[in-house]
This record gives sequence, structure tokens and C-alpha cells, in this order.
Amino acid sequence: MNRTALVTGANRGIGKAIAEGLAAEGLNVVLVGRDGATLGELVLSLHRQHRVEARSMMMDVADPVSIRQGLAKLARNQVPIDVLVNNAGILPDGDLLTMPWDDVEASTRVNALGPLQLMRELMPGMAARGYGRVVNVSSGWGSLNGLGPSAYGITKAFLNAITIKAAREAGRGVLVNAMCPGWVRTDMGGVGADRTPEEGADTALFLATLPEGGPSGRIFRDRRPIPW
Ligand code: NDP
Repeated sequence: MNRTALVTGANRGIGKAIAEGLAAEGLNVVLVGRDGATLGELVLSLHRQHRVEARSMMMDVADPVSIRQGLAKLARNQVPIDVLVNNAGILPDGDLLTMPWDDVEASTRVNALGPLQLMRELMPGMAARGYGRVVNVSSGWGSLNGLGPSAYGITKAFLNAITIKAAREAGRGVLVNAMCPGWVRTDMGGVGADRTPEEGADTALFLATLPEGGPSGRIFRDRRPIPW
């Protein structure tokens, strides 16, 4: 039976490329986002091109109730999730000590707390079935030694820390890793970035399909562990 992957922020950018790449590898996909029309078109296209089961799910990953409602719907439809890709993210403007508090909260919710909630909801089922892959799309700016916008950086450092700690608590057969996609030409990365969304998605696809006994609790770029 095909594995099923849930990808957040699947309507555009790197998330869309990850969903397309997973479908091309024969995984069924649940495309999570807030733009129903675009997700619907993508569902049809993935089904047509790759003959996999694709479905869309409306979810605001900043909203715990929306996450719970979306997952309850999946459970009602008996769709077990084998692979979770926490890709949705926002890049807040401003510095840590001066930016509006609402923006601090919003970016922490989208970039770290939403992913953590999805992990808490989905990882017990993975552990019970003895198979799971979790990929958290992070950033080199999450490095505590690195440069980059500080407010965004702490949300990704939080996501890296969640990855490492959760990997230690994961059940047998469940591998949890984070990755930096590099600088990617998307709405977030801008037109000057040096990678295509497909190139940015490559390490996420590698981690989402790791063989049994693969690494867990590491941060990757270009398919290699990196320090952070
Ligand atoms: P985009 O801005 O192109 O896409 C962001 C995605 O996240 C969209 O699908 C967006 O949905 C979704 N999203 C944002 N907020 C929410 C929310 N509250 N609920 C549900 N979905 C939400 O960004 P990228 O594709 O470039 O980024 C993907 C990931 O890669 C992010 O985590 C980002 O931090 C990371 N990254 C990107 C880099 C780059 O150079 N591009 C570099 C390093 C890391 P919607 O359309 O509804 O807004």
C-alpha cells in the first residue's frame, strides 16, 4: 500500500514542489493550505499525472482549533499519515526586541507551534504503526551562530530544538529531521534567489523517504547534516 504524506503550505513555493516530488515517488498526498481553489487544481493535476490519491485540506497552522478540526476530518475518513512535512512558514519583518508583539506571536505559531502540534497529533499513530517520517522545513538563519533576521531566526531555532527533542521521544520506526532548503526563488525568497523550488525541495524529499534505520534528530542541507 502507498504511504501517505501530509504537506503544509502545499499551495505554492517549496511546499508545492515537495508535494509534487512525493507524488512523483508514488506517495499519496494530503495538501494542506488556506487557498482551496489552488489546492483543488493541484489535487487534480497530481492525481492525473501520478495516479496517486491526492486530497486537499483547509488548515490555518497558526490556529490550534483549525489544526484539530482538519486532523479530525482525516481521522473520520480513515487516512493514516505516514509522513509529515511541516513546510508552511512566514518571514516576519523587523527585529526581535522592537517588532510588534502580534508578529512575534504569529510567526512563532506558524513556524514552530503549529508544526509541534501536528507532530504531537500525528506521531503517536506513526509510532503505533511502526513507521513515520517527519520533516521540518527550517532555515540556516535558525543557527544560533548565524546572521539573518533575528525574529525569524528564533522561530527556526525553536523548530530545530523541537526536532531534536522530539526525535528522542519518537517511537520505533519514526525518524524526525529538519532541513534548510537554501535560498529559493519563491514569494518568500524573492526573484534573486539561486535555487528553484524543486532544488529547494530535494533534501525534504530525501528525508521524507529515508530508509529504515536512517538518521533522526539532525538538521540537514543538501542531504548532509549541518551544525546549527
Ligand atoms: P512561500 O512564502 O512561497 O510559501 C509559504 C507557504 O506557507 C504558503 O503555502 C503559505 O500559504 C503557507 N502558510 C503561511 N502561513 C500559513 C498559515 N497560517 N497556515 C497555513 N499555511 C500557511 O515560502 P517558501 O515556499 O519559500 O517557504 C517554505 C518554507 O521554507 C518556509 O518554512 C520557509 O521559512 C522555508 N525557507 C525558505 C527559504 C527561501 O529562500 N524561500 C529559505 C529558508 C527556509 P498561503 O498561500 O495561504 O499564505
